Amino acid sequence: MYNAKAYSAASATSRLASTKIVRRDPTETDVQIEILFCGVCHSDLHQARNEWSGFMPTVYPCVPGHEIVGRVTSVGSAVSKFKLGDLAAVGCMVDSDGTCPACKEGLEQFCPNGTFTYNLPDKHLGGVTYGGYSDSIVVDQRFVLSVPANLDLAGAAPLLCAGITTYSPMRHWGVTKGKKVGVVGLGGLGHMGVKFAHAFGAHTVVFTTSPSKKEDALRLGANEVVISRNANEMAKHAGSFDFILDAVAADHDINAYIGLLARDGNITLVGAPEKPLPVSAFSLIMGRRSLSGSPIGGIAETQEMLDFCGQHNITADVEVIPIQQINEAYERMIKSDVKYRFSIDMASLKSE
Ligand code: NAP
Ligand code: ZN
Repeated sequence: MYNAKAYSAASATSRLASTKIVRRDPTETDVQIEILFCGVCHSDLHQARNEWSGFMPTVYPCVPGHEIVGRVTSVGSAVSKFKLGDLAAVGCMVDSDGTCPACKEGLEQFCPNGTFTYNLPDKHLGGVTYGGYSDSIVVDQRFVLSVPANLDLAGAAPLLCAGITTYSPMRHWGVTKGKKVGVVGLGGLGHMGVKFAHAFGAHTVVFTTSPSKKEDALRLGANEVVISRNANEMAKHAGSFDFILDAVAADHDINAYIGLLARDGNITLVGAPEKPLPVSAFSLIMGRRSLSGSPIGGIAETQEMLDFCGQHNITADVEVIPIQQINEAYERMIKSDVKYRFSIDMASLKSE
């Protein structure tokens, strides 16, 4: 075991602050990574503040962070996928049983015995896992991804959650050329959703509550932008979408979007607001529309997404921050004021 530097929340109402945590020494199948950048996901905020207490209560101290890129500093004797000095990445998962039907299909995100990168029982050390707001992490090679060398690392980090969480449902629901696709909420997830929908060739429409984001949405690849608080603008799109990705982090009216779906259209929730969202049965029934959800993506698909990003030179638009600004970054995220993902430069942790 060794000590690593990290930032943690001591309680649901505490500011994140500098701390030391214990990491395991690499086992024979482990990869040790010096973390260079870690993206800041709204899920980090939800969990640091225990906003998902009904689903996954937060255990304190909590070290968030599941959009990790860095360099390999050590590998166990049985590691074949990575060598010293390689670029490597870790997303939202660090373990799964490898034997259940989901794992056998490469869908580790549905494994009933999976371990998230933070806030789930740590099978090696006891306590809970600690995430990427840290200078290093040790992860089994099965859950370590390769980063295409051409990608900017600060912008690549958010692909590990915001990227795969938007890529996976779009692939699942057949987003391609000729489809009309909506993306609701232009934040970290939403802006990646726009980039992917555009790259897949779909006619892409952004729904935003922030009129100031209109120009950016077009630059990111949207064909049209709708200010969602404007009922007239919304009504023009009634019954016309094949697929809508809802990436909103807070309470909002999803019925307004269900009504925009064509017959057999689907709206997938990736946003995970704290409170349940009411659904109008009739807006689903009339049109045989469906409402679903989607969690991140499996490891093989995450690598596929990273390789796709390498080929198309896709990264997140990031504001790079030192870790010392993490609390201010959270406040700005709540105000929908991030363009479009914070990425922590972990070199800033050296001075702690
Ligand atoms: P984010 O960067 O904060 O973006 C959320 C966006 O939602 C905001 O930028 C804003 O976009 C919109 N929004 C915020 N408050 C709103 C309100 N009251 N009404 C309508 N729109 C509002 O968050 P994120 O990191 O992209 O995460 C989004 C959600 O996805 C979070 O709940 C997060 O926990 C969840 N998540 C889920 C998964 C998964 O596996 N399913 C993975 C990662 C994250 P506009 O300014 O454009 O309106
Ligand atoms: Zn996330």
